[in-house]
Amino acid sequence: MIAAVQDAPFSTGLSKWAQSLPDHISPTAAKAYLSCSLMFYFERVACIKRKTPVSLHLGKAVHAALQAFHLARWRGGDDSPETVAAAFDKSFRDLERDEGPVNYGSEQKREKTRIDGLRVIAAYLDSPEALKDKPRAVEVLLTETIPGLSVPLTGAMDLIEGNFTPVDFKSSAAKPDKSHAAFDHEIQLVSYQLLLEAAIGETPPSLDLVFLVKTKKPQTIRVTSKPADAHRKRRVVALLETAVEGIASNRFHPQPGMQCSWCQFRNECMAWLPVHEEERKAA
Ligand code: SF4
Repeated sequence: MIAAVQDAPFSTGLSKWAQSLPDHISPTAAKAYLSCSLMFYFERVACIKRKTPVSLHLGKAVHAALQAFHLARWRGGDDSPETVAAAFDKSFRDLERDEGPVNYGSEQKREKTRIDGLRVIAAYLDSPEALKDKPRAVEVLLTETIPGLSVPLTGAMDLIEGNFTPVDFKSSAAKPDKSHAAFDHEIQLVSYQLLLEAAIGETPPSLDLVFLVKTKKPQTIRVTSKPADAHRKRRVVALLETAVEGIASNRFHPQPGMQCSWCQFRNECMAWLPVHEEERKAA
C-alpha cells in the first residue's frame, strides 16, 4: 500500500518526499535505519540471511518467557517458575527451528546460552520488579496516526502496568548506565507514549525499561524516565520522519561507527558504491 504524501509541519533538512512511502514506521525500524542505513538495507530490504546472533536469539526466548509469565498474571493462569522456564525452553527450540541457525559456534556455547536465559528469568521472577498485580495489557500492538508523521506509527509494547506505564524489557550482557539508558532508547519510549496518548488519550505516568542483566549474578534493573514534554515528542517525531523519508528515498549508505563491530555485512559494505543518476538511467 502506498500512503498519501503529506507535508510535515517541520523540516528534517533532507530532500522532499519520494513518491512511495513505507506502510508504517516502528521505533525499532527507525532506530535501525538511523544507526546505519546500509545495514538496515542489507537486513530489511535485501533480506540477506545470516546466522542469528546469539544475543538476539537469547533476547527473543527470554521475551517469550516473560510474555508467558505476564499473560498468566493477566489471565490468572499458571505463573509458576517451572511453567515460565518451560516457556523459555520451548521458545529457545522453536526459534532455532523456525528462524534458522544460531551463531553459537559450539554445543557448549549453546548450552551456556540456554542456562544464562534460565538464570536471568529466575532472577527477574525473584526480584521486586516481577509483576505483582494484574497488568492493564500484555504484548500490545498499536498503530496510530501521529501529527507530523507521514505514515502511521506502529509499536508493540511488552507490558502496560495497571497505572498505564508502558514497560519494555531488555536482555543485556552488562549493567546499563542509568543516566544513558533512557536517552539510548528515547525513540522507542517516546513512541510508546505517543501511541498510548493517541489510542486512549492518557499520558503514562512514566516510561520504563527493565533490564535483565546476565552478569555472574544475574540482576534485574528498572530505569524509569519521565513522560516526554512537547519538545521531546516533536524531536522523536522528527527522527521517525527522517527515517521514513530516507527509506522512501532509497537513501542507504555506510555509517561507520560502533555498530560495525557486530555488523554481519562487512563484505557487502566494502563493495558498496553510490549509484549516480546517469548510471541508474543507463542500467
Ligand atoms: S560495516 Fe558498518 S557502515 Fe558498513 S553496513 Fe555494517 S554497520 Fe554500516
